[in-house]
Amino acid sequence: MGRIIAIANQKGGVGKTTTAINLSACLAEKGKKVLAIDMDPQGNMTSGLGVDKDSVEKTVYDLIIGEAQIEEIICKEVLENLDVLPTNIDLSAAEIELIGIENKEYIIKNEVEKVKENYDFIIIDCPPSLSMLTINAMTTADSVLVPIQCEYYALEGLSQLIHTIELVKERLNSNLEIEGVVFTMYDARTNLSLQVVENVKDNLNQNIYKTIIPRNIRLAEAPSYGMPINQYDPKSSGAESYRLLADEVIEKEE
Ligand code: ADP
Ligand code: MG
Repeated sequence: MGRIIAIANQKGGVGKTTTAINLSACLAEKGKKVLAIDMDPQGNMTSGLGVDKDSVEKTVYDLIIGEAQIEEIICKEVLENLDVLPTNIDLSAAEIELIGIENKEYIIKNEVEKVKENYDFIIIDCPPSLSMLTINAMTTADSVLVPIQCEYYALEGLSQLIHTIELVKERLNSNLEIEGVVFTMYDARTNLSLQVVENVKDNLNQNIYKTIIPRNIRLAEAPSYGMPINQYDPKSSGAESYRLLADEVIEKEE
């Protein structure tokens, strides 16, 4: 047990954090024990799940510099079945702190190993870069889930991302798989969204989730209330679609 999924795409604004928050919350709603790990110094997953990122005493940064154990840092039962490993802007210094450190690719993995058994799913939100933080997420993970925004430049950067995942698999984590691609911010009123989906399906030889996340303003509003969508507006199209995505992720696991 304890499937670990990293949500990654080095492009910013494609829906990584939104997916990480709401997939975590919907898996928890379905009774799965979930740990949400925030690896982006912006800390938006942390605050989006209702944790005050500036008042937490210790964060992922303290793990990186070896000043804390994972058990001390986890915020327990932030929501029912959902724990959070919080982050804030302190983590932006991590890249520097890691210079010259031995086994720096495995720091998070080695900590997560200690608690992995307590969870059904561990969801990691990655920063918008192929940095050492993303590499740490990929060495920790069993698979990478890639959100793709339904816009004109959707495929840009994907070959680089896939190459990175393959390199990590070859050299650092032979278990790593590509979980699949999730389309986000789909706008049914435009042809463009549909064209992007068709184009990616034709050109990308990867598993693609049946669930497509629509553009839904409620998804953009929820983080400012520190709530995932299934709490903020449980009947919205955003909530419905992230529940379906959670079902698919669970089905795949089983
Ligand atoms: P990333 O983590 O990849 O940078 P975010 O999840 O932060 O991307 O999303 C970027 C912006 O788009 C945020 O303001 C977010 O609220 C908004 N957003 C993400 N997904 C949707 C969606 N399905 N519908 C509407 N707005 C969305
Ligand atoms: Mg993000």
